[in-house]
Amino acid sequence: VVVTRFAPSPTGFLHIGGARTALFNWLYARHHGGKFLLRIEDTDRARSTEPAIEAILDGMRWLGLDWDGDAVFQFSRADRHAEVAHQLLAAGHAYKCYATAEELAALREQQRAEGKPIRYDGRWRDCDPATAPQGAPYVVRLKAPKDGAVTISDRVQGDVTVANAELDDFVLLRSDGTPTYMLAVVVDDHDMGVTHVIRGDDHLNNAFRQLALIRAMDTVEGGWPDPVYAHVPLIHGADGAKLSKRHGALGVDAYRDELGILPEALNNYLLRLGWGHGDEEILSRDRAVEVFDLAGVGRSPARFDLKKLAHVNGHYIREADDARLAGLVAGRLPQAPDAAGLDLLRRAMPALKPRAADLNELADNTAFLFATRPLPIEESAAPLLAGDAPALLSQLHTALDAVERWDTETTEHAVRSVADAAGVKLGAVAQPLRAALTGRRTSPGIFDVLELLGREESLGRIADQMA
Ligand code: GLU
Repeated sequence: VVVTRFAPSPTGFLHIGGARTALFNWLYARHHGGKFLLRIEDTDRARSTEPAIEAILDGMRWLGLDWDGDAVFQFSRADRHAEVAHQLLAAGHAYKCYATAEELAALREQQRAEGKPIRYDGRWRDCDPATAPQGAPYVVRLKAPKDGAVTISDRVQGDVTVANAELDDFVLLRSDGTPTYMLAVVVDDHDMGVTHVIRGDDHLNNAFRQLALIRAMDTVEGGWPDPVYAHVPLIHGADGAKLSKRHGALGVDAYRDELGILPEALNNYLLRLGWGHGDEEILSRDRAVEVFDLAGVGRSPARFDLKKLAHVNGHYIREADDARLAGLVAGRLPQAPDAAGLDLLRRAMPALKPRAADLNELADNTAFLFATRPLPIEESAAPLLAGDAPALLSQLHTALDAVERWDTETTEHAVRSVADAAGVKLGAVAQPLRAALTGRRTSPGIFDVLELLGREESLGRIADQMA
């Protein structure tokens, strides 16, 4: 059985890299009919905040990344972490280190001066506990293997080997008795039954230390199998540098609120960011669950591309249900629409959907529906209402006024007859009409606009601009 987890530290928003990690874990679990767990790594008490926790949970809910069971809060498990450290201590796989901060600083200084790697030298590793200073503060360190090497068969990175000599006896418990990150992660993953650790490749170095700890506990207690590791390359910006705020590395909430991205679009985009399945670009959630695997994760960092995201978003906007879009757009209008306005929005969606890359654009394109007469005319549209336009608009008014049943067919017939009579192309009539009806140069199809506005409003707007 497959058990994955997402283990964010709630020190900031749910950023795009974290969301992708969560998505990969979620998909892997769902693909294998396993479990996807959530653990909030809130052990950094100074930097972990309640709003950050809320933002993470909120972002995951919005993306539809549902987790199994209750979220686990790491800080609440500190006693359990300490218990494992004491088990290791009792079994001789860990030891107390009394080196003072000054001593360690001096050691680092010396190593630096000699051009050696900075690393704890194991000075308390083999000491007789009887020689320990009574009552002095100590940390608990893992007695890590010194000889040989460890190989991780990473499902993304391939076989990665590190000599044990390069790993130091890292700290498990601080002198105040609190667990380190390294200890907490390993104990929690074990206790939660995590089988697959899928995370950013910035954690690959940690994996070797974590594995040493896991194997020590397996020796002591049994039942601590190596997890499967998959370290996914981090996301980079368009310039190839690690993604940062400068590149638009926003919180997931900003993609929703500020950029007007649909959750299914963000999921699809993040899925394709560093993972591929043939040349499929658009994958529904069901399709993604069906085909997701770790073999499709690339080994080089993917580049974040807002244009591609907009493209994928445009696709999902076109696919989205009209009533849902109307609701989403309603929340973005300067004035909340009433029930009739909401219905109008819904009816307008088929005409508006094909031309919007995000919800802001979609909302902006609905402005003509709610504008009141006399319509504000955008500067770029004003020339369309000059010259012959007022005269043409008078003819349009007459022709449209005579239409009996008001729909796209009848109004099209009327507009075409005016163009024919004037001996001009349809566009020459449609452009001033568009400007008169919407105040803009671009809009949905003009006959859709006429139908949505209705007879009275359309004729009124035309009259305002005619000769
Ligand atoms: N809490 C860690 C982070 O946010 C992740 C730890 C892990 O996935 O093992 O970077």
